[in-house]
Amino acid sequence: MGEQVNYDIVISGGGLTGAAMALAVLKQASTPVRIAVVDSALKEQATGGFDERVIALSYGSVEYLEKLGAWTNLKAHACAIKNIHVSDRSYYGKARIDCQDYQLDALGYVAPLQAIAQSIYTELEQVAGSNHQLDEYFGNGIDNIEWQKHQVVVQLQQGEMISAATLLACDGGQSRCRQLAKIDTINKDYQQQAIVANVQTALPHHNKAFERFTKTGPLAMLPMTENRCSLVWTLTAEDSKSLMAMDDADFAKALQQAFGDWLGPFTRIGKRQCFPLQLVHAKQIIQHRLALLGNASHTLHPIAGQGFNLSVRDVACLASLLTNALKRGEDPGDYPLLNRYQQQRQVDQFTIIQLTDSLVHCFSNQYLPLVLARNIGLKALNYTPGIKRLLATTTMGYLQE
Ligand SMILES: Cc1cc2nc3c(=O)[nH]c(=O)nc-3n(C[C@H](O)[C@H](O)[C@H](O)COP(=O)(O)OP(=O)(O)OC[C@H]3O[C@@H](n4cnc5c(N)ncnc54)[C@H](O)[C@@H]3O)c2cc1C
Repeated sequence: MGEQVNYDIVISGGGLTGAAMALAVLKQASTPVRIAVVDSALKEQATGGFDERVIALSYGSVEYLEKLGAWTNLKAHACAIKNIHVSDRSYYGKARIDCQDYQLDALGYVAPLQAIAQSIYTELEQVAGSNHQLDEYFGNGIDNIEWQKHQVVVQLQQGEMISAATLLACDGGQSRCRQLAKIDTINKDYQQQAIVANVQTALPHHNKAFERFTKTGPLAMLPMTENRCSLVWTLTAEDSKSLMAMDDADFAKALQQAFGDWLGPFTRIGKRQCFPLQLVHAKQIIQHRLALLGNASHTLHPIAGQGFNLSVRDVACLASLLTNALKRGEDPGDYPLLNRYQQQRQVDQFTIIQLTDSLVHCFSNQYLPLVLARNIGLKALNYTPGIKRLLATTTMGYLQE
């Protein structure tokens, strides 16, 4: 076994959150920093190589990616959402949120997960340059952690030992770091799955996103470049199984029935992928020389498209605390510093987790009084600018603690 390599920061997980965190630190650091990004998956897989998911980026996330320099590469792959149309299939309740009401060019942008990851990594390589040390360990995740007073020593799956002043867990919903730190979680299995696919329709989407509440579950149609749309259809496990088994023609028919004619007939159905949906919420997001970010801290239902947007705000907060500490020559794994991160993130995380969970319960339910209440609610939303603004600004990612 080779010598132990020392870093300032070890990031466990090189998915969107881990990569964004590495970039944010290196971009803002005014002194050289040593970072290791460690992932159990191969790089192609960790950066979404086989993932059809697209991410609806809030306006706030786009501004932050722009600040990090990752938006320049991503822009060409992103499609603006100019308005959002929310409706309940078979009922009259409808609500519209329009970017013009907020004097904005767009409410947010939709981009493939793969393109976001590649843009972040491209910028990361540029920024790392000769000034900093950035080592990547892909296909070689974290196996074990030893917490010492002034550092954490991490054992990788292939046996190497690396150490750092602070360990950032961005290793997803089943976070190995979180388990090793024995941090408890609140878990909720929604007993639902999301079918994700890129589709094409006869009519142009005109940059409109649709959120439609159907008998089988919520269905989102997000505008993409080249007049494609990304479908995210939430279903029970049983319904999802039978829809996944259908051929494209039958699937298009079932989709048409659920979505309606807003965009005309579905002319092309891309590869379908299925994701089980759950809530995982860590009861604490720090421990001695450890901080949790992204899905490791909060894995959300995609109904409101908030998972990564919330992670971006985790990254922005912690990167700024860490780089300020490094600039002053202070210990980046210091407990009071990590505690400031936990305190500053509490309100935003709690609000978004509650909002998302309430939407799942409200809109996955066919209990008639609730259906009527949410239809009245959707109508009322159009005529209650205060509530509409609150919902819009929260989901656009402006909410700050
Ligand atoms: C269907 C669907 C649609 C979504 N739509 C949106 C949306 O529109 N907007 C939005 O904001 N969010 C959305 N999300 C959420 C978003 O996809 C995630 O929040 C985002 O991908 C960030 O994930 P992450 O990097 O935190 O975790 P992950 O993507 O899970 O990455 C974790 C990484 O850790 C690695 N790892 C695992 N174990 C180890 C180990 N022992 N050691 C080291 N590494 C390890 C994994 O290989 C992986 O690369 C959606 C999610 C789903 C399921």
